[in-house]
Amino acid sequence: MSAVPVQQLDELQEYAHAVAGCTRCRLAQGRTQVVFGSGNPRADLMFVGEAPGFHEDKQGVPFVGQAGKLLDKLLAGIGMTRADVFVANTLKCRPPGNRDPQPDEIEACESHLFRQVALIEPVVVATLGNFATKLLSGRELGITKVHGREQKTTIGGRDVLLYPIYHPAAALYTPAMLKVLEADFARLPELLGRALEPPPAPAEPELTLVSAGAGAEQLGLF
Ligand code: URA
Repeated sequence: MSAVPVQQLDELQEYAHAVAGCTRCRLAQGRTQVVFGSGNPRADLMFVGEAPGFHEDKQGVPFVGQAGKLLDKLLAGIGMTRADVFVANTLKCRPPGNRDPQPDEIEACESHLFRQVALIEPVVVATLGNFATKLLSGRELGITKVHGREQKTTIGGRDVLLYPIYHPAAALYTPAMLKVLEADFARLPELLGRALEPPPAPAEPELTLVSAGAGAEQLGLF
């Protein structure tokens, strides 16, 4: 786990206070409250979902409904809890009736997410579902094609390993999806370990021992 200066933790809290009054898009009108995100402010692993639903809007915490319970189970499967990770969403406010996020809402909200990444400094950002994956990969490839395949990218000025995963809600509708989710979650410890390893030292120039014979002298090596 990275050592985060106290000032940076304060900044995340201050940022949460600032975002609580956000009126950048129409969703401000219908929300109970902004759902900023929760968990370990110095987490190495950050999850990014889609948007708060009914329960999240009421409680102010992401993933507290059925999908959240499954997220907790999947985390337990790899020996982690919500206290180890930070969980946020692409949109910080609930779309009415849980409809899909609109492009202009995502655009209005994205800098909040980028700032969160900059302050939390995760090493792996796991996107849950299509909306977070498309936003953070900058590509239109859907989750079916890219899940379980990590890629290096830069978010909020921070180099991270982006790791797309199906949204846990997918397994609530299609139980067979649970196996896929479990398999993708199972790779997270390895990805965290790999991302935390120091980069390999630059290769030493190869030394070839040659005997200082007459030939070497003739070549001007000594
Ligand atoms: N689904 C999400 O994408 N986010 C939540 O916070 C809850 C459900």
